[in-house]
Amino acid sequence: MDRRLFLATTGVIATHAAIRPLGIAAQSPPQDHPQLTPVNPFEQEGQWYKGAFHVHTTTSDGDVDVPTRIAEYRNLGYAIVAVTDHWKTNDLSGFSDERFLAISGMEAHPRTGTGAPAHHLVCLDLPHPFELDRNLPAQELVDRVIAAGGKIIYAHPYWTAHTIEEMSEISGFIGVEVFNAVCQVRWGKGFGNVHWDQALNKGMMLAAMATDDVHSSKEINNGWTMIKAPGLGKSEVMEAISKGSYYASCGPTIDDFRIKDGVVSIQSSPASQIRFQFNGAGAGRVFNAEEGKTIQAAHWKLAASPPKWIRAEVIDIRGRYAWTNPLRT
Ligand SMILES: [Zn+2]
Ligand SMILES: [Zn+2]
Repeated sequence: MDRRLFLATTGVIATHAAIRPLGIAAQSPPQDHPQLTPVNPFEQEGQWYKGAFHVHTTTSDGDVDVPTRIAEYRNLGYAIVAVTDHWKTNDLSGFSDERFLAISGMEAHPRTGTGAPAHHLVCLDLPHPFELDRNLPAQELVDRVIAAGGKIIYAHPYWTAHTIEEMSEISGFIGVEVFNAVCQVRWGKGFGNVHWDQALNKGMMLAAMATDDVHSSKEINNGWTMIKAPGLGKSEVMEAISKGSYYASCGPTIDDFRIKDGVVSIQSSPASQIRFQFNGAGAGRVFNAEEGKTIQAAHWKLAASPPKWIRAEVIDIRGRYAWTNPLRT
């Protein structure tokens, strides 16, 4: 989210008008970047690390500087923070140690030239300094980020009012924000689950993160991503991200999720509802706790012709979600 852009205009409609393309030539067709080939983090060796992957500071429109923001997250028990200011990387040397990893990143929002709103792209693991021409066609920008070794998560598609067709104008992103806390708290447009499912149904295999998109210190720790990796080295964590070895949460903990002997199973912290979501019209299974009680597991025997993908959602008694990444059946 670009708060300055938003505040400089008078409302959401005006914001979208402000970010419409201004005579940008139509972009080149999407390049054939490799798709995410997800692993199941619950079947991977390693540790769980709590991470913040969409973070702003005074380098762009955040309210505190980089050392203060990182200290805020470390004090809350986060092991990984990616600082992703609008169009700018930061010098994060000296912030990582054996118990903490700081990742250089950037949020870029390239114009599209197609009538679609600007894409907001969280770019992780960029060198510093790293410059991007703001007038690059979106696909060229994506290609440059990938060529520099970066990984791209598609940010808050509901807030930017994108259709799945507009998202599909670019290729190369490997994840989407299923939850962006600031877009939910301020505008009620933080959930990206419908966009995510539409992408999966189109055969675009994506993992999904939950993020704070923090701009103000009071907005911290409302959405996070749990990474399963063999260690806290940057290459280990980025490898985990590139394989979808993580789950997203704004509250619940997921302890296990797997398919075994034709049965999909999940175990979690106490929940009022657990859902399995998969491809197809009317596709989904919901397990509800009895009134005043909670459940911590669900099991469902797959049909003889199983769905192409299946993922799970856990909702706690406060209405907070956690989301597994999809498994191929
Ligand atoms: Zn954004
Ligand atoms: Zn943002």
